[in-house]
Amino acid sequence: MEELGVKRRIVLVPVPAQGHVTPIMQLGKALYSKGFSITVVLTQYNRVSSSKDFSDFHFLTIPGSLTESDLKNLGPFKFLFKLNQICEASFKQCIGQLLQEQGNDIACVVYDEYMYFSQAAVKEFQLPSVLFSTTSATAFVCRSVLSRVNAESFLLDMKDPKVSDKEFPGLHPLRYKDLPTSAFGPLESILKVYSETVNIRTASAVIINSTSCLESSSLAWLQKQLQVPVYPIGPLHIAASAPSSLLEEDRSCLEWLNKQKIGSVIYISLGSLALMETKDMLEMAWGLRNSNQPFLWVIRPGSIPGSEWTESLPEEFSRLVSERGYIVKWAPQIEVLRHPAVGGFWSHCGWNSTLESIGEGVPMICRPFTGDQKVNARYLERVWRIGVQLEGELDKGTVERAVERLIMDEEGAEMRKRVINLKEKLQASVKSRGSSFSSIDNFVNSLKMMNF
Ligand code: UDP
Repeated sequence: MEELGVKRRIVLVPVPAQGHVTPIMQLGKALYSKGFSITVVLTQYNRVSSSKDFSDFHFLTIPGSLTESDLKNLGPFKFLFKLNQICEASFKQCIGQLLQEQGNDIACVVYDEYMYFSQAAVKEFQLPSVLFSTTSATAFVCRSVLSRVNAESFLLDMKDPKVSDKEFPGLHPLRYKDLPTSAFGPLESILKVYSETVNIRTASAVIINSTSCLESSSLAWLQKQLQVPVYPIGPLHIAASAPSSLLEEDRSCLEWLNKQKIGSVIYISLGSLALMETKDMLEMAWGLRNSNQPFLWVIRPGSIPGSEWTESLPEEFSRLVSERGYIVKWAPQIEVLRHPAVGGFWSHCGWNSTLESIGEGVPMICRPFTGDQKVNARYLERVWRIGVQLEGELDKGTVERAVERLIMDEEGAEMRKRVINLKEKLQASVKSRGSSFSSIDNFVNSLKMMNF
């Protein structure tokens, strides 16, 4: 990769959110190990630090901020839409400067699919660009399909309970209600952002944090539809692990896990964004207590509306939890999942959490909130058959039963066998001659030959 001692540069453009930052930084590590130098372009809203783990990377922050009131009132989708508007010009300027200062050494710009403002700059400077999808291939397929629906009639269908339980044509086994619509904003603005994210514009390739042993048919669909090479190079957390936690991890939970029986603990984490109502938390706590299984629960500060942390929860909650649980604000998730005491993962089914759970061979209780989490939950239960999905109102009886199914029943033992089998396949895919390993090599070779 080096010509006259100069490494070719890859510019990464992450979305300012944990679930997006983690995989793009892992991708950066993977590409760095292939001989590229890495520049990460941040917006005012990223908190990625140039910590010791990324001391070889170069970080730049582009100007462009939203008003306080926008930040307070825009949901995530409108926020992203606006961020794309305000960052287009400053990113162009940033790339122009980089090219001037460092010569024409930019091999390509890899941008998160939600940071599509990047395309204006690559077009102007005629640089190769690559769209990076941090969600599953199936969620990408869904967004492509949704970007073409008639918004008005789709909205009506989604509201009709008779329709929402039906399978969506062509997307077996996903039902209307599993589609990646969101609680984060009105459907119109979601569909508008989706049509931007699936429009690959002048991108020469698409990189997906997935692998063919999980999603071969969705990947084949994308390959056919997108008409540019699609590189499934995941799971990146196995291929190129790189710690990029934005919050401080509480490692005391590992000591607590050391004292629990093998395969007995339910680990509960709802990712970096999901919020939880007090009523549901109480049902969960009751159900978990009644199941007689120990549990490790991540409750993020701010994840209970109206409360800094857990102080607004009733006394009853603390009592239930203290009987057999342990609470932390943020956990070293992969280490927790790898711990032999963990027998199941109660998850919101974000794509990173899904890959991490499969990667450690842990079956799941699926309680998706929004967006692509619903797609992942359906796949966990129906396609890979390694999860139990909880739908509808939460009540303690259903929670208790789900824990029993996962930890005690034969059904759970079968799920465990299947997830361990998948874990082995994932690990094989990132090893020499595995599909993801070859995919990243093919991508790097294409960059070298400039023949996307
Ligand atoms: N995570 C973590 N500690 C926690 C909870 C989550 O390190 O206590 C990490 C987890 O390992 C995953 C990411 O946060 O890599 C969450 O990403 P995901 O795509 O699952 O969900 P999102 O946060 O985007 O909803």
